[in-house]
Amino acid sequence: MVIRMRHTRAHTRNRRSHHAIKQGGVSTCPECGSPKMAHRACGDCGVYRGRKVVGKKQAEAPATESKKKTSQTKKSK
Ligand SMILES: [Zn+2]
Repeated sequence: MVIRMRHTRAHTRNRRSHHAIKQGGVSTCPECGSPKMAHRACGDCGVYRGRKVVGKKQAEAPATESKKKTSQTKKSK
């Protein structure tokens, strides 16, 4: 860096006054009430917009899931 390019401390600090990071996008899960990131599935219960999208499936799902598992095991054997 050439000395010609150097700014005063005030100039540098004025510029960096906008560099602070802000906390944002934190909301509470309507399902379990734990804090979660906005527009993302809940980390605790895996629900996004009232539907389970991450983790173990709900009671209605296992029927199809078990069928898939049995078909997969038959193929593997
Ligand atoms: Zn949740």
